[in-house]
Amino acid sequence: MRIILLGPPGSGKGTQSQRLVERVGIPQISTGDLLRAAVAKGSALGLRAKAAMDAGGLVDDEIVLDMIRERLAEPDAQPGFILDGFPRNLAQARALDGMLKDLGKPLDAVVLMDVDYGELARRISGRRTCQDCGRVFNVFTSPPAEGETCPKTGAPHRLFQRSDDNENAVAERLRVYDEKTRPLVDFYRRQGLLRAIQAAGTVDDVASRLRVALETSPPPASVTPPPSPPRAAHRSPTKAGAVPVARRGAAGREVVPKRKSPKRKSVNRAKSERAIGAKAVRARGAKAARAKGAKPAPTRRVKAAPPRGVKAARAKGAKRARTKRGAR
Ligand code: AMP
Repeated sequence: MRIILLGPPGSGKGTQSQRLVERVGIPQISTGDLLRAAVAKGSALGLRAKAAMDAGGLVDDEIVLDMIRERLAEPDAQPGFILDGFPRNLAQARALDGMLKDLGKPLDAVVLMDVDYGELARRISGRRTCQDCGRVFNVFTSPPAEGETCPKTGAPHRLFQRSDDNENAVAERLRVYDEKTRPLVDFYRRQGLLRAIQAAGTVDDVASRLRVALETSPPPASVTPPPSPPRAAHRSPTKAGAVPVARRGAAGREVVPKRKSPKRKSVNRAKSERAIGAKAVRARGAKAARAKGAKPAPTRRVKAAPPRGVKAARAKGAKRARTKRGAR
């Protein structure tokens, strides 16, 4: 199986990829992880990528494509792979098509993970990664289970927060997603590869929707509706009329963190979410207001000058009227 998980930062691509790795046994290929590893190593490539990553922008296509080409050639990727965070723009998507065509291994599916912006801010602010095994948790919704240990060290997970999960970088990453990555929804829809799932809810719920989506044939490209309007990727796909959403009843329970003082925690959580979300949500609010038709500033109407022939005819008519009046 060769698939892409597509969606904005915080939509759960990494978490769901890790679930699929366990279930299907094919590797997750995350360009974000590969780039972070290069940065941590201090390699020349890592140094070139770091500035763009810290600012929430995209790393040069050339760097990312070289990395992907190399990774796809490794033995574990031969039976299939889950691409997470790649491609991120049309140039990368076209280059990937070319690579896979050369290998004679086309994509099987592209799954769009659809979540609204408020939820994204909440997820990103709580996201933590184990620095040893790389597993992604959320301190609010899916923390490590009581007594859980890291499979790499046998000790409790050592969690860290990504340096680009901060207010400024998150706002920029969402903007970049809107501008550069969202066009891929239509790109893959036209190829008949796109399926969409609601990515809100528990990790287990989303995992079962993903499973259903991967087992269901996508709608034929010829009957898919025209390109969705801006921000459709963040609305319910059914509202956007885009593609059917795979649904299934709750397949798992929500893991709720142990709270010593629920009140304190919810205050901290609200603060944390506010810190991450405020800027992104403000930017989105302004954009939404514009999209909803907030009236543009009134413009002064300037009477258009009549065409020359009309002007001359009017002048002639007025002169004739004056002469007539004078004659009377
Ligand atoms: P991610 O872990 O997927 O959120 O990626 C973290 C950062 O790595 C992004 O904000 C980008 O700066 C960079 N990055 C990851 N994947 C790509 C890609 N396919 N193209 C360009 N930059 C990428």
